[in-house]
Amino acid sequence: MAKRKSRKAKAAPPPKKAPKLDTAFDCPFCNHRASVECSIDLKHLIAEASCGVCKESYSTAANALTEPVDVYSEWIDACESVNEGVDARRRRRSYADDDL
Ligand SMILES: [Zn+2]
Repeated sequence: MAKRKSRKAKAAPPPKKAPKLDTAFDCPFCNHRASVECSIDLKHLIAEASCGVCKESYSTAANALTEPVDVYSEWIDACESVNEGVDARRRRRSYADDDL
């Protein structure tokens, strides 16, 4: 007796989640949702992220591999390092107060 071919294609393959590239992000300044848009200018190798609500913007160098999320995360990093600087200064001052 011939073996029955098992039907492999019975169930549809699970729908692949299309890696939809996000180009709208939450603004680190006004916290507005999806108000930040990133544009990448490969001609001038400049990437820019800007908030359509508070008009804050950040620009950085881009290359062929730069994606909007890279620009955005760089912006966040830049914001955090600024905040850390402020914190460090405050902390240092309070240490100094303790010493005196
Ligand atoms: Zn904003």
